Amino acid sequence: MVSSWNEECGIFGVYGHLEAANLTYLGLYALQHRGQESAGIVSSDGKGLYAHKDMGLVSEIFNKDVLKRLPGRSAIGHVRYSTAGATHLKNAQPFVFDYSKGGIAIAHNGNLTNAQVLRDQLEKEGAVFQGTMDTEVIIHLFAHANTGPPVERVIAALKDVKGAYSLLFLNEKELIAARDPHGFRPLVLGRIKDGYVVGSETCAFDLIGAEFLREIEPGEVVLINADGVHSFHPFPTAQHQFCIFEFIYFARPDSYIFGHNVYQVRRELGVQLADEHPAEADMVIPTPDSGIPAAIGYAHRSGIPLELGIIRNHYVGRTFIEPRDAIRHFGVKIKLNSVKEAIKDKRLVVLDDSIVRGTTVRKNMRMIKNASPQKVHVRISCPPIIGSCYYGIDTPTREELIASSHSVEEIRQYIHVNSLGYLSLEGLKRCVAPNEDEFCYGCFTGEYCLEPPQDDAQLDFFIKEV
Ligand code: AMP
Repeated sequence: MVSSWNEECGIFGVYGHLEAANLTYLGLYALQHRGQESAGIVSSDGKGLYAHKDMGLVSEIFNKDVLKRLPGRSAIGHVRYSTAGATHLKNAQPFVFDYSKGGIAIAHNGNLTNAQVLRDQLEKEGAVFQGTMDTEVIIHLFAHANTGPPVERVIAALKDVKGAYSLLFLNEKELIAARDPHGFRPLVLGRIKDGYVVGSETCAFDLIGAEFLREIEPGEVVLINADGVHSFHPFPTAQHQFCIFEFIYFARPDSYIFGHNVYQVRRELGVQLADEHPAEADMVIPTPDSGIPAAIGYAHRSGIPLELGIIRNHYVGRTFIEPRDAIRHFGVKIKLNSVKEAIKDKRLVVLDDSIVRGTTVRKNMRMIKNASPQKVHVRISCPPIIGSCYYGIDTPTREELIASSHSVEEIRQYIHVNSLGYLSLEGLKRCVAPNEDEFCYGCFTGEYCLEPPQDDAQLDFFIKEV
């Protein structure tokens, strides 16, 4: 059975720089928000591949000594996040494998939708799989394409693959980047001195002083080697399906992806929301951090002052151990706390980026209510989420999405607030104009351009693990 465990990943690669592993470390550091469970780097010195990966944060896994053991002028790296119960080092990427012509490493962001079908076929032909990751299917297809240079094998492998992928491959001499024809996940290309960088988001380039050249196009395969950058468009063109959720929650506000700066889009979501759902209020309060840009937009448009009524503890890590018994039940306060003196007796507009299961906003509102505001109006800077994502964002099954079975009024009652307003789909689209038709809105419409995985096994997996 193939898992959906590539969700929410970040990838980064460097070609042609003396400090390739160090730069990749920094690139991953900037992309840490895309995955906190494991991280890995594979480097090449032209003769061999060198790998290090582990569970944890980039800063915990890599230090000077580890990075020294990753020599060479090119490298690729990966950060991975999974909410699935068990955490496994064997699922940490990049994967390194040997085939008839040498070694190759692969780092993948996205989810394939036909991985199980392909895996069944490959197994019938005698392939043996080590794990459950859908990325392994690409590896087998690469190895099966038994002629031609690596870039041709990559193209041959990807011809059969459906779904979302932004991929990096590294062999001894070359770095290859590929983005699926729909372009679900972002992938950007940059330059640093005489070398090149490729990554999920431009914020990684900013950190290392790389120049952003362009986005890698949907369906494009880019080969970087001693002769420079070579671009291929080997696949039939397809309707673009950029993930709108990157703008709502996932990407970093300082990044430029899908033709827009993320912060500006998020701020505009707040402006639209103020037009669609005005409120009589004394202050606009962001839910930090993800609600901040939209709250700024809402406050600006409505003329209602922005106040920090909720403070976030930025040092809450994955390793927090909740004490037992008497001092337990911290609930949401571990991460967020209200500023009681600022909120008391005030009419609030509280901004958040999204409601998924509804548990977070419910807890947050309980905390806010304890500070005795006069009124609480919640505004959400995206439409109700009614469908799971099959392309790389970790949303739970449909049944767990509160908006798939409850009306806005029912959700308002559930979170105990005076009013609740979601941004409309039309309003959302206006914020990413003029290329609004290039986006996937599946989580808001339940309509998907690529069929979700059809086989029962994989659907079961989504239900069990996510
Ligand atoms: P909940 O409604 O309790 O499931 O939590 C929703 C909150 O989690 C949102 O306000 C976001 O800040 C955050 N969030 C939304 N989507 C994701 C995701 N795919 N992974 C992690 N956190 C998310």
